[in-house]
Amino acid sequence: MDHRSRQQRLQNSLSAHRLDALLVTHPPNIRYLCGFTGSAGVLILTGKRPVFFTDGRYTEQAQAEVQGVKIVIARKGALAAAAAWLSGNLKKGRRASLIGIGIEGEHLTVAARSRLAGALPSGLRLREMPALIEQARMVKDDEEIACLRSAVNLGSSLFDRALETIRPGVRETDVAAAMEYAARLAGAQGMSFDTIIASGARSALPHGRASQAVIPVEGFVVCDFGVILAGYCSDMTRTVYVGSLSAQARGVYQAVKQAQQAAVDAVRPGMKVSEVDQVARKSLQNSGLAKYFTHSTGHGVGLEIHEAPRLAAGQPQVLLPGMVITIEPGVYVPGKWGVRIEDMVVVTKQGCEVLTPTSKELVAI
Ligand code: ZN
Ligand code: ZN
Repeated sequence: MDHRSRQQRLQNSLSAHRLDALLVTHPPNIRYLCGFTGSAGVLILTGKRPVFFTDGRYTEQAQAEVQGVKIVIARKGALAAAAAWLSGNLKKGRRASLIGIGIEGEHLTVAARSRLAGALPSGLRLREMPALIEQARMVKDDEEIACLRSAVNLGSSLFDRALETIRPGVRETDVAAAMEYAARLAGAQGMSFDTIIASGARSALPHGRASQAVIPVEGFVVCDFGVILAGYCSDMTRTVYVGSLSAQARGVYQAVKQAQQAAVDAVRPGMKVSEVDQVARKSLQNSGLAKYFTHSTGHGVGLEIHEAPRLAAGQPQVLLPGMVITIEPGVYVPGKWGVRIEDMVVVTKQGCEVLTPTSKELVAI
């Protein structure tokens, strides 16, 4: 991964945001910028060489992983060391006005912010920075797309385990366990989120994590799952039917499949993410099911399972080549059933490429 050029791009954008430094604390952002995969550290970006602070547990790991950055092993905590460094290195500002230090408002706790503010001299001011790193992370480079492709392929292989395990009388957790065991055997670092196996009436819960509920003799089973491989997440959903399929159940499934395909077909660079959402919703309107589609159409995926952009109404972000997003409309009729189909796609110069290789034809068990 080209960490140095990522750091430089951000360093170059500091002055446009009237910031003298960025204090990065969110581990996926730290990983993106300097390669550190541990869970505790602080990265400071200024106009000069970036500095990374971590503690003694990570001495060896930081030396092996961190690129393009000075490493400081802090004795009394990374944040305290970062505050001392800022005080020592930024107090003689180039201009008379306050020195601005950008912090990640979405990730720094209130307590950490107060500790930090208390340790800084007057003249240094903490300011919530715009989501600069999250914006940079939206567009994946070739190496990241290769990682995501590998994660997607491993993830999709788990659907075979689901199909082997899903039977009336089997617990949802049994299905999840078979999939997660297979994921680990195949080398996954872990699951990208708690596996969703939602059967029968539970399939109407968009986030129905696998429970001890037993799969009934009749109904949909929503399977939403993903793995982490080389730090990158996969995410896919398939819905199967257990029992003899009614025309109504088939109709609902086909409507969701059509909406999902329409949204995939619509994806192209230059399009607003809200427009993709609209395409899926319009398609479900035609089948009278739009009112049961209660979440957004998709999200970015990368080092985190949910990252920018969010494909929802009112979101102005424009799609760019290299963005990796999910397309996952669903229909949820409370107390009755639910269907969701989700693929990961990468936006290309012409449109998009579907990464998820699994068929979307309805499987009845
Ligand atoms: Zn999912
Ligand atoms: Zn998703």
